[in-house]
Amino acid sequence: MAWDFETDPEYQKMLDWADEFVREKVEPLDLVWPHQQFTPLEGSRRDAVDPLKAEVRSQGLWATHLGPELGGQGHGQLKLALLNEILGRSQWAPIVFGCQAPDTGNAEIIAHYGTDAQKERYLHPLLEGELFSCYSMTEPHAGADPTLFTTRAIRDGDDWIINGWKFFSSNAATASFLIVMVVTDPDVSAYQGMSMFLVPTDTPGVKIVRNVGLYGERDNEGSHALIHYDNVRVPGDALLGGEGKAFIIAQTRLGGGRIHHAMRTIGLARKALDMMCERALSRHTQGSRLSDKQFVQGYIADSYAQLLQFRLMVLYTAWEIDKYNDYKRVRKDIAAVKVVMPTVLHDIAWRAMQIHGALGVTNEMPFLGMVTGAAVMGLADGPTEVHKTTVARQVLRDYQPTEGTWPTEWIPGKREAARAQLAEYLDAEVGNL
Ligand SMILES: Cc1cc2nc3c(=O)[nH]c(=O)nc-3n(C[C@H](O)[C@H](O)[C@H](O)COP(=O)(O)OP(=O)(O)OC[C@H]3O[C@@H](n4cnc5c(N)ncnc54)[C@H](O)[C@@H]3O)c2cc1C
Repeated sequence: MAWDFETDPEYQKMLDWADEFVREKVEPLDLVWPHQQFTPLEGSRRDAVDPLKAEVRSQGLWATHLGPELGGQGHGQLKLALLNEILGRSQWAPIVFGCQAPDTGNAEIIAHYGTDAQKERYLHPLLEGELFSCYSMTEPHAGADPTLFTTRAIRDGDDWIINGWKFFSSNAATASFLIVMVVTDPDVSAYQGMSMFLVPTDTPGVKIVRNVGLYGERDNEGSHALIHYDNVRVPGDALLGGEGKAFIIAQTRLGGGRIHHAMRTIGLARKALDMMCERALSRHTQGSRLSDKQFVQGYIADSYAQLLQFRLMVLYTAWEIDKYNDYKRVRKDIAAVKVVMPTVLHDIAWRAMQIHGALGVTNEMPFLGMVTGAAVMGLADGPTEVHKTTVARQVLRDYQPTEGTWPTEWIPGKREAARAQLAEYLDAEVGNL
């Protein structure tokens, strides 16, 4: 029996260190420099953050999603899940630990598909935490269905010229380079006719038209760019993984990205549950504490159960990824995690907000940010509906239609078969009457 729900004691010590470190030294960054984690470090921010990164490295917890050949610890996804659920409490923590989205997914695909020169130029500084990257795929007229993308690259001698529009390219404004998905051959199916290019952000023709913010963010805080690629010329060696390989690359990238979001979401939902419980024990009304009211107990119990279910689901899926080392094989469960994630975060954050009363909906508490975060989780890396269809299609693969009119479990039919199987006993029963 190999089932085991315990963390090995040595790694647990590292997690305990990380937990205290994030609460005491990293969460203050969220308050002093909110929304600045993707701005390249300089001045006082660099002075404050570099020593924290050094501490993480000295503990052997820097970029643990990567194998040792790429500067990580090779811990795998399960250990990363246990770490990420601690980091999920804080905006800055993934940066300080070298495992922030979207850079983790971007690093992963350059590691898989990049040439030596591409790795030297983009991957190594990315892993050092010295620059940021952007994944530029969604277009203003099409997101969930990538076969509708129209941004086009056309060969010109040894170069390619890119033209088109991309939307919601997160962190483009601060990224050093963009990974852009474009049509390179419109005459074949989109699955064979699209390619990825590595494009430095300062290439002439890359025009960030505006940085869209999420609801509640101030104008200068938006980080999701609308980009016009206006005659952007890149050399042939900017192609990532070969012509026509965009879909294969995207699947590699998005599989990892989705499960990493889920790991961090556990941490955020747990933070909301912690706050809910503290408030329930602290607030008195109509003769008793909130924690004595059955409605509030219901909120706590439902939240605890939802979080426990979700956490087990994420840990199990992470374990599967480590075991099979094949995102395709684990696709159904990654999609199922992605489907559940927004609801879990939404429900727990909403209940926590509700029991904080008026204070809960203010900008002095983080709940509405969490609720927006839940909505984001239902869209980023693909809408919930699309992932539900993936789950359903994968589940249905294990089933066959029935031959005749009646379902296999149709009781009259089964009863008749059971009677035939047990006929000798039934005959004896009749004989004994
Ligand atoms: C915070 C955030 C960050 C993001 N970062 C990036 C990024 O860095 N790079 C990038 O390229 N993109 C990014 N995106 C974009 C994201 O990938 C898209 O929003 C997503 O793929 C959906 O595309 P869309 O917004 O165009 O919605 P649409 O494709 O227009 O879909 C709208 C809605 O239609 C419904 N729908 C769509 N398809 C189906 C279907 N097949 N069945 C049933 N219902 C369906 C769903 O309700 C869906 O929400 C980000 C999005 C968010 C919110």
